Amino acid sequence: MPTTRHPETRAIHVEVPDLEAARPLNVPLYQTSNFGYDNPEELAEAIRRPESFAYLRNSNPTVRALENAITSLEGAEASMATASGMGAIHTVLHTVLSSGDHVIAQKHLYGGTFALLKDLAARFGIETTYIDAQDPAEVAAAVRPTTKVLYLETLSNPTAQVTDLPAFFAAGKEAGLTGIVDNTFATPLGCRPIELGADVVVHSTTKFLSGHADVLGGVAAFADAGLHREVWTRLLETGAVADPFAAWLTLRGMGTLGLRMTRHHENADALARFLSQHPGVEKVHWPGLAEHPGHEIAKRMLPHGYGGLFAIDVAGGRKEALEFTRRLRLADRAVSLGGHKTLVQQPATSSHRSMDADGLRAIGITEGTVRIAVGLEHIDDLRADFAQALDG
Ligand SMILES: *Cc1c(COP(=O)(O)O)cnc(C)c1O
Repeated sequence: MPTTRHPETRAIHVEVPDLEAARPLNVPLYQTSNFGYDNPEELAEAIRRPESFAYLRNSNPTVRALENAITSLEGAEASMATASGMGAIHTVLHTVLSSGDHVIAQKHLYGGTFALLKDLAARFGIETTYIDAQDPAEVAAAVRPTTKVLYLETLSNPTAQVTDLPAFFAAGKEAGLTGIVDNTFATPLGCRPIELGADVVVHSTTKFLSGHADVLGGVAAFADAGLHREVWTRLLETGAVADPFAAWLTLRGMGTLGLRMTRHHENADALARFLSQHPGVEKVHWPGLAEHPGHEIAKRMLPHGYGGLFAIDVAGGRKEALEFTRRLRLADRAVSLGGHKTLVQQPATSSHRSMDADGLRAIGITEGTVRIAVGLEHIDDLRADFAQALDG
């Protein structure tokens, strides 16, 4: 910048340094809402291609790097990063569904997805039939001429119910349905649903993929590039795109995904086994235990581990469970999961507070259920904390 220009101008027009043949080891954070072009023809050409980097709502190199990484991990054709997990789920469902369509979904569903399906029913007449997701024949029994989507979750909240994805997606294909699965709890290291018949895989990257409880994000991975294009075009309209910094933090977290998932699983397995022996605990909902209803499917479908989320039913009930969570010193009382810190939450007084004891029983939990999102701490410290809290 020539020094003949005024200081205000020079403070604005700072040059991006030439990299002199050096190549960044990490994906750089391109925190910029648009890119400039030396020739007006190049800008005109970039604007014609909606996936160019000309404007951030369309695309950005840091965001693209995250999408490419997810495409590779999920064995997909293309992926789309979003501002949140709900941003991905909302955009996918609003693309594949129209007024009057019908959805088949498993009844153990993430609360935000359940609320979205309720809203779609009320405003667009898009009804949902909820199935137990225990027997693939439930799909054929629920199908209507208007059914478009089969919506599943690999592992469910809070009891880690495991859905037999190959069996259910085969039944969905038979009926011509688009198969969508929320793979947040398993991560692509635990399960690759496209290989098991899914058309679309959604994630809240807020959880295990970013892994440090410091960012909100989502992603959808597609088996078919054409469907990706349709959904992504809708994303340009909703504007629920990923911010480059959020994508960068997610990529940074993903570098240790393998190590973290191994540790989450080992810690959860050890803590679940310890708690299953404790007289203060009535029941442990962890797929690693032989008595869990999803144990056999989990062994087959998730050979590398079951994530780090499970639930326990504290003996006594609502008050005993509340007091137990209050006494924890290392584990914190908070929502969300998948970060490095262990968190607990009592569904009856938080995420599922609108349900009474009967309603809770219908989804397999009690007023004394506590959800545990197991973190990466040393297992001896976790066991000691849970023991002191149970022993009062
Ligand atoms: C958190 C979560 C979501 C929603 O993701 P956000 O990033 O909070 O929007 C969806 N599905 C599952 C299973 C989740 O745990």
